[in-house]
Amino acid sequence: MSYNRNKCTHCTLCEKTCPVNAITVSRKDKNWSIDHNICVRCTHCVAKCPKKLFF
Ligand code: SF4
Ligand code: SF4
Repeated sequence: MSYNRNKCTHCTLCEKTCPVNAITVSRKDKNWSIDHNICVRCTHCVAKCPKKLFF
């Protein structure tokens, strides 16, 4: 699976659910980023994403 930037609606649910704040979403700039050094692979963001996007 991989994150699909074209399908992301920048709803920020993944950002809000991440326990370690690894994801940064900007609705205004249509930007999505993840810090893989911080991510603990809990997959909570995947479960929350309405578009079923992952990285
Ligand atoms: S897998 Fe967990 S730690 Fe990693 S970005 Fe998603 S919610 Fe955050
Ligand atoms: S939850 Fe999914 S659609 Fe929403 S901002 Fe995150 S990756 Fe994009």
